[in-house]
Amino acid sequence: MKSLLCIALAGAATSAGAQPQRSDPRTAAVEVRAAATQPATTGAADRFTGAVRITTPFSAPTPGRAGGGTVAFEAAARTAWHTHPLGQTLIVTQGIGLVQQAGQAARVMRVGDVVSIPANARHWHGAGPGGAMAHVAIAEKQDGPSVAWQEQVSDDNYQAAWKSAGLQPAAALQAPKRHYPGADTLNAKQKAIPLIAAFAASSDMAQLDVALHQGLDAGLSISETKEVLVQLYAYVGFPKSLNALGQLMNVVEARQQQGIQDAAGAEPSRAVATGEELVALGRRNQTEISGGPVQGPVMAFAPVINQFLQAHLFGDIFERDNLDWQSRELATLGALAATPGAEAQLRSHMLASLRVGLRASQLRELSQALAASGLAASAEWAQVALSQALAMKGQA
Ligand code: MN
Repeated sequence: MKSLLCIALAGAATSAGAQPQRSDPRTAAVEVRAAATQPATTGAADRFTGAVRITTPFSAPTPGRAGGGTVAFEAAARTAWHTHPLGQTLIVTQGIGLVQQAGQAARVMRVGDVVSIPANARHWHGAGPGGAMAHVAIAEKQDGPSVAWQEQVSDDNYQAAWKSAGLQPAAALQAPKRHYPGADTLNAKQKAIPLIAAFAASSDMAQLDVALHQGLDAGLSISETKEVLVQLYAYVGFPKSLNALGQLMNVVEARQQQGIQDAAGAEPSRAVATGEELVALGRRNQTEISGGPVQGPVMAFAPVINQFLQAHLFGDIFERDNLDWQSRELATLGALAATPGAEAQLRSHMLASLRVGLRASQLRELSQALAASGLAASAEWAQVALSQALAMKGQA
């Protein structure tokens, strides 16, 4: 184990047996070591904190001097402090990491980032607190090892590093403390949202027009209404979403000409994350709304659909905080109730609605509002889905 670590990180000049050293360029042959034959080892406890796995160790044949490997860190795992006599190059291949030079602020490194560590600079590198990180590490050796190990990075040092770098700990990503307001009845704004969504989903522009006026009259801001219709594209597709947004634009213009002052509403209060951070936040939101990690045969069959659900629907869209999650669920319920064949998803979203604090009495009202607007079949599907959801929760 230790010898592999030496190959991986110290690039020992004469590593025993792992691979032949070929020095004569006239006779040396290109070697391809198959992935399946790559050794893997665990980072030694005196050189790393937390779980670290080292793979693809390599040591260039002489006269080459480079050595290294891939180092994968679990969340919060990191190297000890150390130096490299000829410096080091890191290339991040997964996750979000931190690298800190002694006396300087820690820097965040993300997938694709290339980090150059100068010769003899005292430093450490590792995963951020919110998830795993992996990098390729390459260092050249001179007349001895390519790394000199020092003491461990303390928990205090590590915590100060991720805080100053603006990263989130795994605990915050997995267990958000969210307060959901509870009420027995839907307010007028909440009642309008599923109707807007249902008529957008069924492309009934005349009724959508009525529902949009109703929602704006009830106090929905223009931006909240936009959020409802934008979110719907994830459930009913871009054409219907775009058509409905066009209708909203016409309604807003018509109301302005009539002298009605609708509130513009807010934009999201914060920039939405990107990359791995976005996926982590989306997965957290999805897990919370779904009541557990989302998996199953379809997700296993086509993993990319869950990647899109996490990064885009539960990330990009649900991270926009200018429409609350109860409103987002009411919109989804309205759209799904107007979509034949989406019974399973409608039932799932009844459960999700209960999770984000909507009550059964409010969801019954939703069904009644659909019925009152002439959507008898949608109302019936919603009622059935709610009954099934309550039965699944043992609240029937
Ligand atoms: Mn290093």
